[in-house]
Amino acid sequence: MPWLAFAAQKVVEVNALAEALSGQKDEAFFSANAAAQASRKSSPRVTNEVVQKAAAALKGSDHRRSTNVSARLDAQQKKLNLPILPITTTGSFPQTMELRKVRREYKANNILNCFAAILLESLRKNMLRLSRKKSTKLSSSRKSSIDVLVHGEPERNDMVEYFGEQLSGFAFTVNGWVQSYGSRCVKPPIIYGDVSRPKAMTVFWSSLAQNMTKRPMKGMLTGPVTILNWTFVRDDQPRFETCYQIALAIKDEVEDLEKAGISVIQIDEAALREGLPLRKSEQAFYLVWAVHSFRITNCGVKDSTQIHTHMCYSNVYDIIHSIIDMDSDVITIENSRSDEKLLSVFRGGVKYGAGIGPGIYDIHSPRIPSTEEIAERINKMFAVLERNILWVNPDCGLKTRKYSEVKPALSNMVAAAKLLRTQLASD
Ligand code: GLN
Ligand code: ZN
Repeated sequence: MPWLAFAAQKVVEVNALAEALSGQKDEAFFSANAAAQASRKSSPRVTNEVVQKAAAALKGSDHRRSTNVSARLDAQQKKLNLPILPITTTGSFPQTMELRKVRREYKANNILNCFAAILLESLRKNMLRLSRKKSTKLSSSRKSSIDVLVHGEPERNDMVEYFGEQLSGFAFTVNGWVQSYGSRCVKPPIIYGDVSRPKAMTVFWSSLAQNMTKRPMKGMLTGPVTILNWTFVRDDQPRFETCYQIALAIKDEVEDLEKAGISVIQIDEAALREGLPLRKSEQAFYLVWAVHSFRITNCGVKDSTQIHTHMCYSNVYDIIHSIIDMDSDVITIENSRSDEKLLSVFRGGVKYGAGIGPGIYDIHSPRIPSTEEIAERINKMFAVLERNILWVNPDCGLKTRKYSEVKPALSNMVAAAKLLRTQLASD
């Protein structure tokens, strides 16, 4: 693609500009550059009029689910029949060496069938590992007590790259690594053109996992704002336009998941807070279009479909009103690394009526929290939040942990929630 300039090309461009300014313009270089820019403008890989019209039509209007959150939660509870303090996890299970190897081999050799077979097996194993029952058919009577399950994301390398690879308008680098957290790195995609979704991206995996259990299996998506913020974004249109385009693609995915019978769908917005502009004067505008983009993704679902979102890596306290305005049914949110500052927001009187799962242990640490410690954390939340809106979950996905850490930590989490349920029942 002659439209993209990386470090090497930029050095040549700067050099050409400097020469031009000193009166030695390289005409051939400049005309080749002009031709490249013209071809970018006219390329059907960049411009998709249907997408542009649909995204333009979103501006200026509001997109919200028509029923308020408490009525929606009632409709969802009728369908899901969850206990008090419902237990869930936020998406990924450990990414084992075995999984990484299979994905690498798949990329190198395009061995689709083999890949699918091994992943299916790993998916099954992942689910079974956390279910404590030997049978291959999970049933709602099994001992494991995670109420809303996840499939564990074994098919995904990274929560943005996975979606970018399946959407039109995205390109990938081989060596464009960026540090994300500690020693962890990601390769952010590049958005160079209008974004559209040629076909469903997660329905196959989610339906497969849902068919293995009677319990709800959360569909798992990355939200438009997070895809945008963790990507190199085209510079020929405002960021919000690109975000609306991604929102429409994710909306289609949400609706396809719902049609496939998935009744709980999580749309991660881990990076919403970090996209907040540094200039105070630009913050309100960003929050309006970011929150709007999130709502676009799920404004079309039934009341009985439960929309979750998840946030981490962020001080969310200063944007709590925007988070409320996202109008998701449930939010699972980082809490344990920030000294439970989140709770002080509610102590300060902010009203929150939707479901909320302030993370009860830090998944970034290999330390296994005890049952007592987790119960103590949940107890602290009772002081500031209504019991019937509280969820129990870890701080974030478990992909950086080992099964030897995750299994005891989740067992303790389940034991703590059960302990408190018993106490509440006898109150
Ligand atoms: N669903 C993702 C996971 O669990 C969320 C990751 C994140 O919030 N950074 O891996
Ligand atoms: Zn997270």
